[in-house]
Amino acid sequence: MSVNSESTNSFQLPPEVLEICDLAENIVSKELMPLEAEFLNSPDHAFGIKETLNLEAVFGKDTLDHLMNIAKETGLWTLMIPEDFGGAGLSMLSKVAILERFYYTAVPFPFANVPNILYDCKGEQIEKYLNPVMSGEKTTCFAQTEPNAGSDPGGMMQTKAVKDGEDWIINGTKMWISMAAESDVMMVQVVTDAEKRQRGGITMFLVDRNNPGVKVEEDGIKTWLGPKASQYIVHFDDCRVSNDAILGGVGNGFRLGQRWLTIHDRLLRGPFALGKMQRALDMCISWSKQRHTFGKPLAERQAIQWKLVDMYTDIQSLRALTYQMAARYDQGEDIRVEAGLIKLTSMDWGARCLDHGIQIHGAMGESLELPLTLFYRYLRHGQIGGGTSEIQRMQIARKLLKD
Ligand SMILES: Cc1cc2nc3c(=O)[nH]c(=O)nc-3n(C[C@H](O)[C@H](O)[C@H](O)COP(=O)(O)OP(=O)(O)OC[C@H]3O[C@@H](n4cnc5c(N)ncnc54)[C@H](O)[C@@H]3O)c2cc1C
Repeated sequence: MSVNSESTNSFQLPPEVLEICDLAENIVSKELMPLEAEFLNSPDHAFGIKETLNLEAVFGKDTLDHLMNIAKETGLWTLMIPEDFGGAGLSMLSKVAILERFYYTAVPFPFANVPNILYDCKGEQIEKYLNPVMSGEKTTCFAQTEPNAGSDPGGMMQTKAVKDGEDWIINGTKMWISMAAESDVMMVQVVTDAEKRQRGGITMFLVDRNNPGVKVEEDGIKTWLGPKASQYIVHFDDCRVSNDAILGGVGNGFRLGQRWLTIHDRLLRGPFALGKMQRALDMCISWSKQRHTFGKPLAERQAIQWKLVDMYTDIQSLRALTYQMAARYDQGEDIRVEAGLIKLTSMDWGARCLDHGIQIHGAMGESLELPLTLFYRYLRHGQIGGGTSEIQRMQIARKLLKD
């Protein structure tokens, strides 16, 4: 395995972080890669669900426990948790460099994957939601999209909550919610002031999935991202929640949603794509040296060499951009729009990089024995899920033309 350490080093990560990068590469090659063929062949993996749930569904509890032990013993379990909450306190740049290593394979590694907005939990919410999510006992999902509100959630959202004494009553339908059926708690955005909408009229509620007013349609929505459906339609039917279910105050829900998306669905798409693009390039270099046509290895054909160079160019450019944006985040810069640039480039360049990877492998590229088509689908999906490439372009254009 060779994640490009030369370009990682040029960001001058401290030696202890480079050591964690080595540890990550070791875990990937010794523990995760040997499981990859079984993962790819399994009818039980799903896209967009927590790593622990995916591992247990595919390999069973023993393998999950084994990997969890490694995660806990090495401290990697708390990689993404801020120092104030018991994490190692690594910079975002360090986290990005480490995550890139883990995303080299299709097999997930168990991290405590806590939505950054959950650290805003107050009072009883800490015991009820934040602590069990950090320990891995409870899982969450994020519910913004609706049948008629995708790219324009602020303008089109219909799900609403009205005050009833000390409680709120939620009514409406959410759609495409990843992991809704498997999560314990839903972070749901609803309209609480139809006049203000995204400017103070949307509120985030923490709703228990087993609230009698919540109905998750069992079947889920089948997509090309995995054999098992993991996106769901969720109905809120006179769903009663207390005032304590509000996260971050009334009217702050849209802002919280943006904060969640900026990190989880934009910036962190960078390392996700980088791991997969680097893997595809490594596979292509090896394949093109061994596969012969018309008396020569593919690697000696200029048409193939240029594809390899295009892949390499995309990887180097994306790595430079992602690491730079992570470093700017570490310096306290507001990177809401720039994180969109990472999402745009990682998914657009990632999909075209994997497309080259599949082409260089010929028929083998289309075989489900290799991870290439799965990686392609994951990255192509990113041009839609979590805010489309067009919407990222729209927001970047707005910033460029602002003055
Ligand atoms: C696998 C998967 C998982 C998902 N998980 C979740 C989840 O966990 N939680 C959640 O809340 N949502 C989730 N989503 C929903 C996802 O975020 C939305 O699908 C996405 O934001 C796009 O919305 P839409 O599908 O309604 O497209 P639309 O808004 O209907 O857009 C359709 C097309 O028109 C383009 N378009 C729209 N407006 C403009 C414009 N002004 N200018 C140019 N082009 C435009 C779009 O880019 C797109 O190409 C998921 C979706 C998928 C497929």
